[in-house]
Amino acid sequence: MIIAANFKTNMTRASTSEYLNTLSKCEEIKSQRVIVIPPSSALQDAPAGVEIAVQNAYTVRSGAFTGELGLEQLEEFNVNTVLIGHSERRHVLGESQEEIAKKYEYFKNEGFSIIYCLGEPEALRDEGEEALEAYMQTQLDGIDTTYEKLIVAYEPVWAIGTGRVPTNEQIVETLSFLNTKTEAPLLYGGSVKAENSKEILHLDGCDGILVGGASLKVEDFCTMIKNAK
Ligand code: PEP
Repeated sequence: MIIAANFKTNMTRASTSEYLNTLSKCEEIKSQRVIVIPPSSALQDAPAGVEIAVQNAYTVRSGAFTGELGLEQLEEFNVNTVLIGHSERRHVLGESQEEIAKKYEYFKNEGFSIIYCLGEPEALRDEGEEALEAYMQTQLDGIDTTYEKLIVAYEPVWAIGTGRVPTNEQIVETLSFLNTKTEAPLLYGGSVKAENSKEILHLDGCDGILVGGASLKVEDFCTMIKNAK
């Protein structure tokens, strides 16, 4: 199973270091693929069994792109996993599907593992499965779903950070739709917590979870890793 923690714009370099130190003592990291995605200011070496990824990066080795990280900076921290298409980057920061696909292609060509996020706004969920699938298809535009280092994260926009989670049936149905599009591992993300993680992790077609808010407490994240067993 893949258990990933997205810190978003939380934690410092020092608190991330403390977090990783505690996480290294969580026995279960040995049996799962554990990915921690800190803010870029907190990139650092990870203990054995933990992979560090970035929340975003730019399609360049280095150059005049103020505020962005390129390959040169990622290499310094041995980062070769990147999150692409997160709902906050799409809907808050305005990244278009075209930009997302360009980023995907660039990091694919650089051999990165890519956690590719997609998911519907609430209005689409209300319209039913057919509308939702048509929408998600647009979020696969320009994305090579056969890429061997691809991980797909299904994250309904309305479930991210809200405490609301789709029904088990809805998650299974959507993962099964995605399974017709790719052989990549499929994660669920959106208000996963220590308490609901076991049930979600054991749903049909679920290969792991991407956790935001609830991953910030390392004890809870460790519980979620244990629940993957
Ligand atoms: C996320 O940011 O990817 C996420 C799933 O957030 P949360 O767990 O806080 O809903």
